[in-house]
Amino acid sequence: MAKHITLIGGGLVGALLAQQLAGRGFAVDVFEKRPDPRIAGFTGGRSINLALAERGLQALREAGLADDVLQRAVMMRGRMVHTRDGRSGLQRYGVDDSEVIWSVSRGALNMLLLDAAEAAGVNFHFGQSLAHADFDQRRIRLVDEQGVSRELDAPVVIGADGAGSALRAAMNAHSPLGERVESLGHGYKELEIPPAGGLSADLVGRSGGHDQFALEPHALHIWPRGGYMCIALPNTEGSFTVTLFLPAHGPHPSFDTLGGANTARAFFEEDFPDLLPLIPDFANDYDGHPVGTLSTLYLDRWHLDGRALLVGDAAHAIVPFHGQGMNCGFEDTVVLASLLAEAPDDTADVFAEFQRIRQPNSDAIAAMALENYVEMRDSVADPHYLAKRALGALLAEHAPGHFMARYRMVTFTHLPYAYAYERGRAQDVLLDQLLRGSTDAAAVDLGAAVDALRATLPPLPDLRHG
Ligand code: FAD
Repeated sequence: MAKHITLIGGGLVGALLAQQLAGRGFAVDVFEKRPDPRIAGFTGGRSINLALAERGLQALREAGLADDVLQRAVMMRGRMVHTRDGRSGLQRYGVDDSEVIWSVSRGALNMLLLDAAEAAGVNFHFGQSLAHADFDQRRIRLVDEQGVSRELDAPVVIGADGAGSALRAAMNAHSPLGERVESLGHGYKELEIPPAGGLSADLVGRSGGHDQFALEPHALHIWPRGGYMCIALPNTEGSFTVTLFLPAHGPHPSFDTLGGANTARAFFEEDFPDLLPLIPDFANDYDGHPVGTLSTLYLDRWHLDGRALLVGDAAHAIVPFHGQGMNCGFEDTVVLASLLAEAPDDTADVFAEFQRIRQPNSDAIAAMALENYVEMRDSVADPHYLAKRALGALLAEHAPGHFMARYRMVTFTHLPYAYAYERGRAQDVLLDQLLRGSTDAAAVDLGAAVDALRATLPPLPDLRHG
């Protein structure tokens, strides 16, 4: 008989994991708190669209879903940085379109994954919220939308129920997981730039010939402003989802001091004058959308022997500034499904091995995501950062086996996050030494710099096997 697995949460990671496990012969039941989005409409609650990068794409390729997803995605070739004086410029991610990221709709992606999992034989139970787990009896209690509860046997249960995981709370109550939640202290709010047809003609024209869009569609737009920023990601139908990231409390500007739409509008007029006119429904968006919170979750333990395991955000929620939370969760599914397929009856060993492999990597991407907030909101406009970036690009061109920007390692390769973090740190030290405070990369003796690089750092791993 097929080994049975109970999954809590049919979001992005839960749905993909379910599909992978069913494809490997497991009998999978998924209990999802929300109603079926394919019937009731998607009520995601946060980030309308997300950046999909190579790690997530690779997981989707292994699931046979990459082409379907990419058909519904908008390519982003680089960061379009908008300065306060209204100028903008594209910082490309790679030399060509082999190194791009993709803007995908959370709702569309989730529904595609649910369809795929169902086609693989997964049983979904929507409107069923995990309320309690008794790990001694190996039973779970679920509550439906009418408040009716029922109990079920669940000898092996996996929690993909997100940052506020109910399974994690139940595991923690059974035996502490060493949970630490570090709040960033900054929140976010989403606003919308509608398709260009909804804007007056004089505002359109920055879309590089893509008439449907009010801005260049093939870019991740950033308005860095030091301690805070806005970003915008394109949607297939011509709109953009704008996210304002700002301190939650404290002196102006913070979400506290902005209060409602009137003060927020004055703040945008001052700080984002080119962006504000593109958001015609500013007052409704601002007052109607909640301020989301941002935290990093660390756990000492992700599993309860072979009885329960946490994956995705339930195990390692991170701040969104590297666009890697979902990508990391998708990588989890590949590792876990293959470990479980190899030893379906040894869940205790498999879960321990899963944590051993994945935790150093989720710790590393958590740290890099935090660092990237500073880079995005501040450094992308900083001359020293730009000089380091330029020198890094020269080294990558002249010694490609020895230098690769950390962002590229994270976004466009499968090198473990932990490797990218360590290597990135070592490369950063070297760049600082080579530049010696200068903001002119061209002034550095490139031959000597390449020699120093080769003498200091071992070659990069062979990416064909990475
Ligand atoms: P979730 O997506 O949270 O799904 C959890 C599921 O479990 C939900 O369907 C929920 O309804 C269900 N659930 C919850 N409680 C229960 C319960 N008690 N019983 C049953 N079901 C339950 N990542 C990227 O890779 N790229 C990006 O560009 C990106 N941008 C982001 C922007 C923002 C503003 C935020 C907040 C996050 C962003 N992320 C991004 C991170 C990404 O959203 C998460 O990493 C990803 O959604 C994690 O997927 P998950 O399935 O683990 O959790």
